[in-house]
Amino acid sequence: MRGDCALLTLGCKVNQYESQEMREQLESAGYKIVDAGGDADLFVVNTCAVTRTAEKKCRQVIRRVAARCPKAAIVVTGCMAQKAGAALKRLSERLIILGNAEKEDLLPYLTEDVSCATAGLSNCRSYRGRGIDNWNGRARAFVKIQDGCNRNCAYCLVPQVRGRPRSRPAQVAYDEIKRLAGKGFKEVVLTGIHLGLYNEREGDGLAEFLSRLPDIEGIVNIRLSSIEPTDFTPDLLNVIKSDNRICNHMHIPLQHGSDRILGMMQRPYAANDYARVIDSLRAVRPGLALTTDVMVGFPGEDDAAFEESLSFIRRMRFAGLHIFRYSRRPDTPAAVMPNQVSEKIKSARAKQMAQTADDITDAYLASILNEKLRLVVEKIDNSLCIGRTDRYVEAEVDFQPDFSIGDVISVRALSKNNGRLLGKALKKVL
Ligand code: SF4
Repeated sequence: MRGDCALLTLGCKVNQYESQEMREQLESAGYKIVDAGGDADLFVVNTCAVTRTAEKKCRQVIRRVAARCPKAAIVVTGCMAQKAGAALKRLSERLIILGNAEKEDLLPYLTEDVSCATAGLSNCRSYRGRGIDNWNGRARAFVKIQDGCNRNCAYCLVPQVRGRPRSRPAQVAYDEIKRLAGKGFKEVVLTGIHLGLYNEREGDGLAEFLSRLPDIEGIVNIRLSSIEPTDFTPDLLNVIKSDNRICNHMHIPLQHGSDRILGMMQRPYAANDYARVIDSLRAVRPGLALTTDVMVGFPGEDDAAFEESLSFIRRMRFAGLHIFRYSRRPDTPAAVMPNQVSEKIKSARAKQMAQTADDITDAYLASILNEKLRLVVEKIDNSLCIGRTDRYVEAEVDFQPDFSIGDVISVRALSKNNGRLLGKALKKVL
């Protein structure tokens, strides 16, 4: 036994996947994984740099661990380590700073700092990680199939910290999904930094990955974590139409409903292009749950642009919104744009957007009452089963003695409360 190790993860699904991958590397090297709230010989903090708030949280977590466990070794990795390793090192001399690429084969680096040169990342053309065999503490398994982005949206530093697009070989990912199915997982969430760039260089792409995905015993739901509106090719629409394992839910980042702001963001579409993609999707998938990311307070967003965004969002009938306040990221074009929006205005707009989000979620839930949905049980609490439906919205239904966490059950939505469906369990599917 090498000692006790605790992992702390901040940020997106890709980071969560990579923490699971590091966990399995550490376990196979003889570490015992323990709860991060207690003591450990080694802490691994997997950081995020998407906003200034995310970075603040990372610093707090690192400071707390360093103060609470003065003898522990602390490895700090992830996007903030990649971007600002030297600054983080000033928090404590004990920190071992590793970039994103080093996570894929962590063990050789446990005792040494490496430079987190972005150059190393951008040269990284292939995915070297060993993948995962299991998911601890989850009923739905994330499977990373892609990393990196080369689109350079004006507000985003992801390409700087994640490098160029690269994809896992399809067969490696299929084998991983088979292993997870063998462990009892019934839903797989395909994740990536820019999923639509999967195998773009080789020309076969995400549509081919999905169309060749074999029937895997036990896998009922395939969910796509997020797809850019420009990535819906006719082939992808066809596969979404014909494969009912693919959940009737798409997360398609909009970012803004004003063409002027989309242009300044360097997003390669106008609001009406986005609307056309949604119309095509709804034509092949009636009842689709559509969720999105929307940003408030981008430089140059005046009252009129914000109102335009709100009204476009109401028109699109989203099932849910993830709202971000624009966060000034160093070395991005938007950071030096004129007409930066004050924090006070950002906060008022975020509040107004959140109210719209509640209203549209409520309207979407009302539109699917009485429908039959597939639910993956994530929690059993006080005789209730709680989980995500294939339409992504959460639902709670009556518990029956043969239900366990991870099961897929067929449910009927009967009513709604606080953004959640309340329903009746019909039968266990698997
Ligand atoms: S598509 Fe744009 S927002 Fe998304 S990761 Fe790439 S640069 Fe960032």
